[in-house]
Amino acid sequence: MCGIFGYLGHQQALPILVEGLRRLEYRGYDSTGVAVEHDGRIETHKTVGKVADLKAILPPTVEGTLGIAHTRWATHGGVTQVNTHPHASENDRVHLVHNGIIENFQQLRKGLAARGIACISETDSEVIAQMIALELEKAATPLEAVQSTLRRLRGTWGLCILLKDHDMLICARNGSPLIIGQGDGETFVSSDPHPLTAHTQRVVYLEDGDVAVIHRDSFSITSMKGHSVEPSITVLEDAWGEAELGDAPHYMYKEIYEQPDALRQCISGRVDRDMGTGRLGGMGLDHSALVQAPHVRLLGCGTAAYAAEIGQMLIEKMGRIPAVAHISSEFRNNDTVINPKAIYLAVSQSGETADTISAVKEIKLKGGQVFGVVNVVGSTIARLCGQGVYIHSGPEQSVASTKAFTNMVAALTIFATQLGRTRHLSKDDGRELIAQLQQAPHLMETYFEDVGPIAEAVDLLCGANSVLFLGRGLSATVAKEGALKLMELAYIPCLAYPAGEMKHGPIALLEEGSPVVVIAPNDHLKEKTMSALHEVKARGAKVILIHEKGDAIASEGDVSIAVPAIHPWLTPLLTVVPLQLMAYETALRLGRDVDRPRNLAKSVTVE
Ligand code: GLU
Repeated sequence: MCGIFGYLGHQQALPILVEGLRRLEYRGYDSTGVAVEHDGRIETHKTVGKVADLKAILPPTVEGTLGIAHTRWATHGGVTQVNTHPHASENDRVHLVHNGIIENFQQLRKGLAARGIACISETDSEVIAQMIALELEKAATPLEAVQSTLRRLRGTWGLCILLKDHDMLICARNGSPLIIGQGDGETFVSSDPHPLTAHTQRVVYLEDGDVAVIHRDSFSITSMKGHSVEPSITVLEDAWGEAELGDAPHYMYKEIYEQPDALRQCISGRVDRDMGTGRLGGMGLDHSALVQAPHVRLLGCGTAAYAAEIGQMLIEKMGRIPAVAHISSEFRNNDTVINPKAIYLAVSQSGETADTISAVKEIKLKGGQVFGVVNVVGSTIARLCGQGVYIHSGPEQSVASTKAFTNMVAALTIFATQLGRTRHLSKDDGRELIAQLQQAPHLMETYFEDVGPIAEAVDLLCGANSVLFLGRGLSATVAKEGALKLMELAYIPCLAYPAGEMKHGPIALLEEGSPVVVIAPNDHLKEKTMSALHEVKARGAKVILIHEKGDAIASEGDVSIAVPAIHPWLTPLLTVVPLQLMAYETALRLGRDVDRPRNLAKSVTVE
C-alpha cells in the first residue's frame, strides 16, 4: 500500500525515482507523482493512474540530482490529480510525500485557515507541508521545523521532505515503514527494501519516532524531541533482488509455481526427522516454556488470518491446548485478556500490516510475548517481536498471496509439531508428520504436472453471480482462502462456509447452475462433506470438487480436480493450489488486472 522513494546523489534523480516507483507498484496504489529539485527550482509531475501513465507525461529530461516520489493509495480525498502527492506548501518552500493517516488533520487545517493558509487538496497530508513551511520561519534549522511540526501530529506517517534551497532530504517515520539505503556518494529512501537492492545492500530501517536528515554521502537520525539515535545498519538479503518477472506472464502465476521451492526453503533445517519434531531456533522457546503455555493466540489479516486459523486447528490437534485465531483489527480493539504465560503469534507476509502491528503493541503492553511469523526480513513486526520465524517465501509481489500462504501454513505446522512433541504427540506420529511435510514440495510438483480441468471450472465460474465454497475442518478454512482469492481477483461475490453450516443459510442462494466449490480431501470429515455436496446437487448446483487422487468421490463432481494424497493434517498445502489457479485463470478470462486487483494493496500499512 502506498510507496515512497527518495534520492539524493550524483546521478540524475528522475530515472532512479521512476524505477523506484515501478518496483513499489506491487504494493497497490491509485495515483503517482514525482518532484525533482534543480538550481533552487522544484519541478513536480503527477497523475492519476499507473507509473506508466506518469512516465508518459514526463518531459524528456528533468534535470536534478535530488527528488522524491510517491504512489498514493487514497485514504483522505478522492483519487484526483490535486490530491496526488507530492504536496507543496503555499510558499513553495516545502514539498513532501506522505504515507499514512493524520488523524487530527481537520483541526490542523482549521488552524492553518485561521492564519490565512488555505489547503488546495482534500488530503490530510498537505497540512504537514503547510505547517513545516510556517515553522521554518521561526526554527533555527529545517530539522527543528520538521520536529516541532511532527510533535503536533496525531496518526501515522512515513514522510520524505524536500526543502527549497536545502541540499538534503528529511525523512520521518511513525507507523509507516521507511528505509534508508546508503550507496557510494548517494542515498536512497524507500518504503520497502525491494527497490533498494538495485542500488545498495546496506540499509537502515527507521523506527517509530525517528527523524533522519539525509545528505549525499551520510545521514543522521534523531528522535522527534531532538535526541540523537544510533543507526543500526542491516545488510539486505540477496533474495530481494530476484523478484523480476522473467518469462512468467504474471507475478501471481510465477509465485503459484514457485511454491514447491518456497516450501523447501521454509522447511529446510527446521525439522528433526529422527525426533519427529520441529526446530524453530528463532522462537527462542525452550521445552519448559512450551509445556507451561496455557494457550496460544494467533493474529492476522486476510490470507494471513486464514493461515492463522489453520495454525489454530493444528496446534489444538497436536499440542492439545486451546488455540484461537483472531482477526488483528478486531483483536486490538476488543480489549482481549492477555495472559503473559501464553504464546502469541503475529502472522503477516509484509510484516508491515498496520492492524497486526497495533495488536502486537497491545499484547506487549500487557506483558505478553509475541512471536512473528513473517516473510519480509527486518520488517516492523519482525523487529517489534524480536523473535519468531521467517517463512522464507522470497519476495511475493502479486497482491493476491499464494506462496506466502502455503509457507505460513508450513511454518505453523512445524511450530505445532514442536509444541505437540513437548506434550501429547508421540515420536512416531511426529516422525510420520515431518516425513510427509518434507514430501509436500514434491507432491505440489506432481500436481503441477497435471493440474486437472481448471479450464472447465473456469467455464462454470466466469458467468456466476456468486460462488459458494464449502469444506469442513481444515478444509473449511481452505474454502475461505479460495473464496477470498476468487473474490479479490475476479470481483465475483464469494461466500465460504463450513459445509455443515450450509443448510443453515447459504443454501437459499442456490439455483439451477450455481457453481459450488467443495473441498473434500480424504480425512475423517470427508463423508460429512459429501452429504453437503449431495444437498447442493439436489438443488441444481454445479459442483467443482477438489479431492484426492484415486478417490472414488471424483465421479460426484461436475468438474473434479485431483490433488495428490497427503497426511490429513497437511491437506491445505495441496488443496489450496487448484483454488489459486482457478482464481488466476478466471480473473484472466474476465480481463482483470491479475497482479494488481482494483482497490487492493499488498501491504496494508493503514488501519
Ligand atoms: N493519507 C494520505 C492521502 O490520502 C496518504 C495516503 C497514502 O498513504 O498513500 O493522500
